[in-house]
Amino acid sequence: MVPLGLPMPRPSPVRDALREIFSRPEHQVLTLDELLDGVRARIGSADYSAVFRAAAVLEAEGTIQRFDLGDGLSRFESRREHHEHVLCGTCGRVAEIEGCLLEDAVKAVESSTGYRLEGHSLVLTGVCPDCATRSGGAGLPRT
Ligand SMILES: [Zn+2]
Ligand SMILES: [Zn+2]
Repeated sequence: MVPLGLPMPRPSPVRDALREIFSRPEHQVLTLDELLDGVRARIGSADYSAVFRAAAVLEAEGTIQRFDLGDGLSRFESRREHHEHVLCGTCGRVAEIEGCLLEDAVKAVESSTGYRLEGHSLVLTGVCPDCATRSGGAGLPRT
């Protein structure tokens, strides 16, 4: 049943372009700027606000999720099982860590506080292998 008073969603080529980007099999973590680049490769006239709105629609319908790694950028990825991320503080590349690192901590916090935890965001930062190689050591600045 279609609820009365709700307009039919208009076709959105920008949204379709985003859907295609996120349907690729490899893991992708994309900022809004990167989404804009990806959409513009297909629709040259796409602008930032159209991409922002389309991403918000896909987020609301649960196709993608947004997360924040504390560097002021929103990042998006296709929705999947809970997992953590690690951010390279040098180049901004994000890698996925399968599974949850905090399962035991969640139980401990629930029993010590009585709160039922519904989520968490963990910010792990470091230096990715490429940046570590470029800087000539294990991510340490050259002296
Ligand atoms: Zn890096
Ligand atoms: Zn977790």
